[in-house]
Amino acid sequence: MNLEVRNITVPFTALLWTWIVLSLFPDWWAAFGGIILIVGVMLTQKSSVNAWIQVIKRHHDWRSETDMRVLVTGGAQGIGRAVCEKLEQLGDEVISGDLQEQDGGIHLDVTSEDSWEDALDSVGPLDGLVNCAGIRTRNLIVDTTYEEFQKHLDVNIAGTWLGIRGMFRRRSSKAESSDISYASIVNIASVNAVIAVPAQAHYVASKGAIVGLTKAAAIEGAALGVRVNAIAPGAIRTPMTEERLVDPQQVAWLEGRIPAGRVGEPEEIASVASFLLSDGARYVTGTTVFADGGWTANGV
Ligand code: NAP
Repeated sequence: MNLEVRNITVPFTALLWTWIVLSLFPDWWAAFGGIILIVGVMLTQKSSVNAWIQVIKRHHDWRSETDMRVLVTGGAQGIGRAVCEKLEQLGDEVISGDLQEQDGGIHLDVTSEDSWEDALDSVGPLDGLVNCAGIRTRNLIVDTTYEEFQKHLDVNIAGTWLGIRGMFRRRSSKAESSDISYASIVNIASVNAVIAVPAQAHYVASKGAIVGLTKAAAIEGAALGVRVNAIAPGAIRTPMTEERLVDPQQVAWLEGRIPAGRVGEPEEIASVASFLLSDGARYVTGTTVFADGGWTANGV
């Protein structure tokens, strides 16, 4: 979002300065001279005032320059919902795609090629994609059915790959018109990509694959002007973890492993996603950011 000094801003700023100078100098004549000087400088140096405002804005908010058009999968609840809300607050145009019915969102089943094609065609050109839709069940390997294992691969990894492919294909056709601008994809992995826990081998396998896919896609995406990164959240309070986080024993187990001493909130993942999408992360691609209160650093 560009901030411009419009006609009204200069007189307003001049009035503000007038008030400041008058309160500093009891001598009205000296103050009057000061005001004339300041207003004169502001009127003649309008472009430099603009430049300073831009510098200050950039310093305080690395998202100030761009309003993006972003599709968030799994945006009906949990981390995906928080990502949508964060991006909307920043002025982005956000489309949430989910299995669930949602106001203003679109239907998207990330496991279906047709559903992805319909969704990407209907939303048009995108600057960002957040692959957040995911599932997780708890079962030991001996008790896990093939269908349950396969479903985790379908939703968590194939669903992410289909989104990446869909966006890349649309960028390829854009590249032919030599009108390429930078886009960004953020995949949601998990600490379980590197920290295995019992009764979730199917989930652990699918999330480990996201880290590898993210690297491979980043290499190919560079030629298309698309950065690809992942976030590996720790334990985050969402409907997915609701059941676990009402059990004091489970909470104590988690808190004993997390140096921050608490589980995370969805907004704490959303802010990382918004950074990775932004121009502030323009030199960041192929990496996984662990947002886990230090759990993986602890290594237990
Ligand atoms: P959540 O609350 O269960 O939300 C997931 C959303 O994805 C739901 O709205 C779900 O819809 C949707 N979804 C599931 N299958 C889909 C499909 N085939 N197509 C489209 N949407 C689908 O989960 P969350 O905790 O926010 O997790 C979001 C992502 O973060 C997941 O990838 C998860 O693995 C990852 N993650 C979560 C945590 C955590 O502690 N919460 C930690 C690490 C990583 P339905 O409800 O209809 O299934």
